[in-house]
Amino acid sequence: MRKILYESGQKFNRLTFIKELKEVKTKKTAYRMALWGCDCGKKVKLVLMNVVRGYTKSCGCFNRELTIARNKNSAIHGMTKTRFWKIWSGIIYRCDHDPKYIPRGVCERWRIFLNFKSDMYDSYIKHYEKFGKKDTSIDRIDNSLGYSKENCRWATLKEQLNNREITFMIEFRGKRENLEYWSKNTGIKKELIFKRIWEQKWPIKRALETPSLRPARPNIKIKLLSSNT
Ligand SMILES: [Zn+2]
Repeated sequence: MRKILYESGQKFNRLTFIKELKEVKTKKTAYRMALWGCDCGKKVKLVLMNVVRGYTKSCGCFNRELTIARNKNSAIHGMTKTRFWKIWSGIIYRCDHDPKYIPRGVCERWRIFLNFKSDMYDSYIKHYEKFGKKDTSIDRIDNSLGYSKENCRWATLKEQLNNREITFMIEFRGKRENLEYWSKNTGIKKELIFKRIWEQKWPIKRALETPSLRPARPNIKIKLLSSNT
């Protein structure tokens, strides 16, 4: 199997690749390990692919900050455990960390949760009463623009897919083709490919070569491995 090599300085979320370390072997698998520099200044050893795939985004500081922010916010509006709040915090996080979203961004108004709520909460409730929670996600009407009241609506997964289909091109095996093409070629449903790449941030190769959905590797391992740094 060909190994993808990473260069020092390559960045995934808050983590910057420093160097590859010795593999850690369990009975079944060998995990490629790497040393990472976190934005907060800490250095950590982490399972390489967990970082590349986005399961691990920081040395742990991101989750700590998130918890603090959640606790602070819950005192203000008591909504931090709701899905609606998660959607909002997801938008803010993507627009600050994901290179795909950073250029389009989120309008200033929506950086404050209560503004987002007053713009989108009523329509959110209506949509999810009709289609269910799982099938209510925020969709940008024009994908070349960012998140704002004017450019957003609630949509089902299918609608999201239709909206993206034309623009959602995938480069693989030296070809740049749309979802439809890759779905036909791999026998994997369009919805699943879309979900894997767009929502779960799988690398393209894995998304198109894995026949059916498997659960992500448990993150427990990482904690054990990083505790000795
Ligand atoms: Zn950190």
